[in-house]
Amino acid sequence: MNKRIVILGAGYGGMMTATRLQKMLNYNEAEVTLVNKHDYHYLTTWLHEPAAGTLDAERCQIEIESVIDTNRINFVKGTAESIDPNAKSVKLTDGQTLEYDYLVVGLGADPETFGIQGLKEYALGIRSINSVRLIKEHIEYMFAKYRSEPDKLEYLTIIVGGAGFTGIEFVGELGDRIPELCNQFDIDPSLVKIYSIEAAPTALPGFDPELVEYAMNILERKGVTFKINTPIKECNPDGVILATGEEIKAGTIVWTGGVRGNAIVENSGFETMRGRVKVDDFLRAPGHDNVFILGDCALIINEETNRPYPPTAQIAMQQGQTCAENLTSLIRGGELKKFTPEIKGTVASLGKGEAMGIVGSKKIYGSTASVMKKVIDNRYLYLLGGMGLLLKKSKL
Ligand code: FAD
Ligand code: NAD
Repeated sequence: MNKRIVILGAGYGGMMTATRLQKMLNYNEAEVTLVNKHDYHYLTTWLHEPAAGTLDAERCQIEIESVIDTNRINFVKGTAESIDPNAKSVKLTDGQTLEYDYLVVGLGADPETFGIQGLKEYALGIRSINSVRLIKEHIEYMFAKYRSEPDKLEYLTIIVGGAGFTGIEFVGELGDRIPELCNQFDIDPSLVKIYSIEAAPTALPGFDPELVEYAMNILERKGVTFKINTPIKECNPDGVILATGEEIKAGTIVWTGGVRGNAIVENSGFETMRGRVKVDDFLRAPGHDNVFILGDCALIINEETNRPYPPTAQIAMQQGQTCAENLTSLIRGGELKKFTPEIKGTVASLGKGEAMGIVGSKKIYGSTASVMKKVIDNRYLYLLGGMGLLLKKSKL
């Protein structure tokens, strides 16, 4: 009987694994099944834009069956509920059970809330197409509501908790969208407040200080107020309470304070740190040689710094490629390949036409960085679906 490969999650890791496997394996060499919550793949790295309303959410969706070859890969639209690594099976929420010989887990991240009271209940998150639609609609609703309750200035306040890359990219987009919204709702822009609140002594902790300063200057000019070294302690229906005791009232609270691995992994009995499995050199879960874990569910250590690599799409994509090669080797009886990330750089957008980052060892700013960001986005589209997908989805 052919070996059964089940891939959970059609994110950067899962899609790269599936599209590489469909090229590497011959017909009928294995039975490959890709399971995903939706029938589309979404570009997580673009989600700060539809969240702010500067890009249509539909632009970030790619129909899975337009990219995978359904003659070679079975696609199951379904939600994984749990994994039983001993029985080698996955349970879906609709009651289906899928059995596997090899499993690939690419289920992405859950928000890390650090047990902060009220965050789960009252803060929105940039996680999926539907979550960012909600953020956009919520901000618009708050602006509309302010028109009928003009004494409630707090409806025009947006708090973004966490000034990591997600928070920074999101406030950059908000800076562009707010003038447009004020125009639409006939609101004085000086009444709108955008707070970027960060616990660490700097925004983008660990990143190049000169680039951080550049980003903060641009964002302040776009109307963002930074509160640095100021952890959020509590979130409630009216706003947030900071560790300093200060209370800020806001109509919209978006939490970008960090991520952990998808809870399914931990709940299925895999040993995890912040929900992520410390995988072996070949991307396998310790003690489970037939389970590969990718992307935001996996933890890999940077040997130079002895710290975990941050979870990124860049790494998830590369893991997908290695995982497909390793699965092919397992099926054909070849050698497994060690995974070594090749970090090409980090570029963050700061809104329309503005970005900053490091490519190789070179710092880039402004329009050059903004073009580079689009080149990076386009490279992924090309790797995933060739010229056809690039022409259909490219932002250039
Ligand atoms: P994901 O791409 O998140 O995909 C997970 C998939 O699993 C999704 O399709 C989801 O629907 C599906 N899924 C989840 N649960 C279930 C379930 N129970 N059953 C079935 N399917 C399920 N990284 C970079 O390298 N560069 C960037 O510029 C960058 N920008 C970012 C911007 C933003 C706004 C954000 C939020 C993140 C950004 N990142 C960036 C990080 C990057 O997006 C993630 O590291 C990357 O998406 C992880 O890929 P993944 O394959 O692990 O999971
Ligand atoms: P993150 O963990 O990188 O940043 C979260 C930030 O929230 C940190 O700066 C942290 O100090 C802060 N924080 C935590 N608790 C807080 C509190 N109580 N109050 C205030 N601030 C608090 O998370 P992220 O920004 O969502 O990024 C997730 C991953 O995605 C990272 O690996 C990141 O590198 C990657 N990413 C990359 C890009 C890019 O390359 N352009 C863009 C977005 C995300």
